[in-house]
Amino acid sequence: MSLIRHFVDGDETADAERTGPVFNPATGERQHEVAFASTAEVERAIAAAKAALPGWRATGLVKRADVFFRLRQLLVERQGELAAIVTSEHGKVLSDAAGEISRGIENVEFAAGLVHLLKGEHSEQVARGVDVHSTKQPVGVVGAITPFNFPVMVPLWMVASAIACGNTVVLKPSEKDPSASVFLARLFQEAGLPDGVLNVVHGDKVAVDAILDSPDVRAVSFVGSTPIARSIYERASQQGKRVQALGGAKNHMVVMPDADLEGAADAAISAAYGSAGERCMAVSVLVAVGDVADDLVAAVRSRMDALVIGDGTDAASEMGPLITREHRDKVASYVTGAAAEGATVVVDGTAKVFDGDGFFVGVSLLDHVEPGMRAYDDEIFGPVLSVVRVENYDEAIALVNGNAFGNGVAIFTRDGGAARQFEIDVEVGMVGVNVPIPVPIGAYSFGGWKNSLFGDSHIYGPESVHFYTRSKVVTTRWPDPNESQISLGFPSNH
Ligand code: NAD
Repeated sequence: MSLIRHFVDGDETADAERTGPVFNPATGERQHEVAFASTAEVERAIAAAKAALPGWRATGLVKRADVFFRLRQLLVERQGELAAIVTSEHGKVLSDAAGEISRGIENVEFAAGLVHLLKGEHSEQVARGVDVHSTKQPVGVVGAITPFNFPVMVPLWMVASAIACGNTVVLKPSEKDPSASVFLARLFQEAGLPDGVLNVVHGDKVAVDAILDSPDVRAVSFVGSTPIARSIYERASQQGKRVQALGGAKNHMVVMPDADLEGAADAAISAAYGSAGERCMAVSVLVAVGDVADDLVAAVRSRMDALVIGDGTDAASEMGPLITREHRDKVASYVTGAAAEGATVVVDGTAKVFDGDGFFVGVSLLDHVEPGMRAYDDEIFGPVLSVVRVENYDEAIALVNGNAFGNGVAIFTRDGGAARQFEIDVEVGMVGVNVPIPVPIGAYSFGGWKNSLFGDSHIYGPESVHFYTRSKVVTTRWPDPNESQISLGFPSNH
């Protein structure tokens, strides 16, 4: 069994006093061990990042951009290889793994535009002989802590922009599927990134706390579950760091009575069960408005039996296993407990039998779900779709806005006026109109509201440039020495 090691200052290292298992979720096989960094190992990585900072910051912008152009090419060329790594440790099907790499490449493309992104502003003659300009400077060493569900895309959300802005990074990926991040770090190295600019440490709370508590780490980007996001935000911001901590989700898809029912059913199936529901933008609540409910439930139901669930390396598979045995069992508990809470179990995916020891579960559909039931209140993060029936648009909005999460939402309708009003009324960070998974393209920023994000900045895109830089405003005068005089008044430009 191989040991997955850290990547510090351009080399793979491991103290490996503690390790954790890395499974192949499709077979249940424990295929690797991953080193869990000690505090000392994380401090070594932070020291390497700190040492690399002056050199990287001084590197010309065009040269920095070159790294991202080369990286993009390498990611395209090695996409298949990287997708295979993702599938082997995460379990998602190969096409889905390739899809997340494509979305990550968007962040690299955005970063390649850094020469434009880092431009400041200049105002000539704000007072006679006085000019003002602003500049964007790196914050310093950035800590990046990522979840298991997108082992390529989410690290790229953070490291592409952070590095483009002149920072250096210590990345702590999920310990459940850690290989992809080391592969990424090697690609960055091959693309010409100097050693120490991107470091990867593996592990658990010990490694994360070492990042949060280091006075040398100036900003922290986190993506993961809400309880951990909240605690990361509190701990790091208490120490004066800049923090963005993205949390969990409960994404609603509202289907209005005038919607194209067949299209809505296709979208609901795709968004609820793709990647086995382990997406922070997965649709987990289908809100049936008015008399559409019975037909909508029937249309979704009629599509479920045909879904092919199997090993993600099999091209026929549309959905793979869940990440761990424990998570699979937890997801199943929401389905088995739903009837006792008053929901109708239309399809019980836990009853489906699979060969072998993989962490598979079938797809489930629950109807007549309501707030207050576990299946509604919790983020299940599995292939379970709950239907909530409401009478009208106002009830749909009240339901969505009453939810503790606010990551993504969608409305399916043919009525442009209703969609427009929805966009205005809904308290959610990312909205889809007839689009079930409205993940913004790389030129916009990604982020939810309420318990889906702690902090002020959304991630990647323009808001990431703001997050990963500090602005400075410089006021300049080149006076004529003959005009010098004393004035104790507050400087006024009028
Ligand atoms: P998680 O919160 O368990 O882990 C995320 C990271 O935090 C990992 O690197 C993990 O090692 C670390 N961690 C875990 N426990 C910790 C602790 N006690 N102290 C410090 N660090 C700790 O999340 P996960 O299970 O890996 O990922 C799934 C979750 O991530 C879901 O809730 C999903 O909605 C969320 N997610 C959100 C977004 C978003 O953009 N909002 C995107 C992807 C995933």
